Amino acid sequence: MIDFGFGLSRSSAVRLDEVDLTLYRKLEAIEPGVRICMSCGSCSSTCTAGPWTGMSVRKVILALQRGQDVAPMLKGCMLCGKCSMVCPRGINTRHLILSLCRLYEEKK
Ligand code: SF4
Ligand code: SF4
Repeated sequence: MIDFGFGLSRSSAVRLDEVDLTLYRKLEAIEPGVRICMSCGSCSSTCTAGPWTGMSVRKVILALQRGQDVAPMLKGCMLCGKCSMVCPRGINTRHLILSLCRLYEEKK
């Protein structure tokens, strides 16, 4: 990638060899289903809290794979489980969110 030193908007490029995937790897060990997410967005489109809080399981998974902090987004989840019912890959997204919250608690 060529860096000209300026730009109209902040670059959204992710340098995968530099990101910290510790949290994602820990989640992957507990919830292997996270690997088969295909980012279809069905979970996000059905999310009860999404329109008001910005919660999105799809975004959470993508952000984790980029080593980003998702704790603020998780606060919007009401653990209703609707997202789990629509996932075409059968991922238990509700349980995945719970496991992720526990990992954040352990980090404190
Ligand atoms: S469990 Fe959380 S992420 Fe899933 S639909 Fe309910 S509020 Fe949204
Ligand atoms: S519905 Fe399932 S496969 Fe689709 S983005 Fe959500 S977790 Fe991933």
